[in-house]
Amino acid sequence: MYTTIIGLEIHAQLQTSTKAFCGCRADVFELEPNTAICPVCTGQPGALPVLNQQVVDFAIMAGLAMNCSLRERSVFDRKNYFYPDLPKGYQITQYFYPIAEEGHLRLETGESSKTVRIRRIHIEEDAGKMVHQGTDSITGSSGSYLDLNRCGVPLIEIVTEPDLSTPYEARVFMELLRDTLRAIGVCSGDMEKGALRCDANISLKDEKTGKSSNRVEIKNINSFKFVEKALESEQLRIADHLNRGENVSKETRSWDFATKETYSMRSKEEENDYRYFPEPDLPVLLVKGERIAYLRENLPELPWEKIARFKEQYGLPTYDAGVLASDSAIASYFEIAAEITGKPKDCSNWIMGDIMRLMNERNLTIGELGLAPEYLKELFSMIDSGRISKKIARDILPEVIDRKLSPAAIVKEHGFEQINDDNAIEKAIRQAMEENPHAVKQFREGKEGVLGYFVGAVMKATRGKANPGRANEIARRLLEG
Ligand SMILES: [Zn+2]
Repeated sequence: MYTTIIGLEIHAQLQTSTKAFCGCRADVFELEPNTAICPVCTGQPGALPVLNQQVVDFAIMAGLAMNCSLRERSVFDRKNYFYPDLPKGYQITQYFYPIAEEGHLRLETGESSKTVRIRRIHIEEDAGKMVHQGTDSITGSSGSYLDLNRCGVPLIEIVTEPDLSTPYEARVFMELLRDTLRAIGVCSGDMEKGALRCDANISLKDEKTGKSSNRVEIKNINSFKFVEKALESEQLRIADHLNRGENVSKETRSWDFATKETYSMRSKEEENDYRYFPEPDLPVLLVKGERIAYLRENLPELPWEKIARFKEQYGLPTYDAGVLASDSAIASYFEIAAEITGKPKDCSNWIMGDIMRLMNERNLTIGELGLAPEYLKELFSMIDSGRISKKIARDILPEVIDRKLSPAAIVKEHGFEQINDDNAIEKAIRQAMEENPHAVKQFREGKEGVLGYFVGAVMKATRGKANPGRANEIARRLLEG
């Protein structure tokens, strides 16, 4: 038996308006290449960095959200290495004295619940990007272009202790981290845009001998799904080596989503290969205790706090609270709708069901979908009064959204009012009984389930407009005859 040991290093781009050490704009994802650069972020001789105050605040907020202790005195260092996307030849980071340390997050996976320790959070800058002609890797490309827009975009790197023990836990942790960073507004959390990137360390320990495999690092995982997939594949590969009495190499690997396997990039570099030393162009970073206290005081509501409040205030089950709280726009919509309709659980059901389905189908946010909560209120009251069935309410929802027309007007226009007229229902049931005497016989012999067939027949005959409760009652009465 092997135990799996996983630790994550996550890079999160901070949503500041300008870069970490210069005035260039920081949201560069969709810009034309090399249009947001200056002498500072491209490392021209004589250009000097100036620290962006917002970067410090955001890093502190992330540290507070993750229960870290904050350093009032932290230091920037240079991490030296060569790569074409790093024109300075070094990255400004915080190696010896990071701004935040020794935190933790509580991880609930549905299967288990555990504390994941955060070793450190430090501020650093992003590198540029290489665009390889014809292929997405440097090998096999006939030429490569450099886009330096991303140089100097502020990052925080979050390093966990190796407290995760399954690939699934690693994925859920990444989602928790995204939700946390989004809730405090410091990072968009969009993995597909590279705003959140993950490197994962994995090793396996043989429970019998107590021996551990070498540690393998998987670099640059860019989706929540791939975090899990890459680690699953690597877990198998390491176990396979150990089963044969071999160890894996200590190396850096990359996940190939086409082959669904990891492949070797390079043997793992050692920390001291980077020749870290204090950044001479930036002073020691001093943060006043009052500033930290102020940010702590004004920290937005965190995901787990919101979940707890939704359960308490609206009486929602944990599952509902978790789904609604994971997206701040959906959470706000829910709160407004719950207030207007006075029916929080119905709102939750509708949002998690048809509304989120329509959002996915149309690739829209809840705001873009544009369903006025007042219309939900109207739908609920028409269902409650028996004017329309729940099915009709669901059927007309897309039309309510598309035409921005009140549900009552649409129901009226189409003649969708529910049939509460017992005679009409009775007529439909009698007809179904006539058409299918065999089913009548089955019911009378004790096959209760056949009742559903008759209710279905009524619904069909009335195009879903019959009151299903009444149809059920009347069908039973007539069948029991
Ligand atoms: Zn710049």
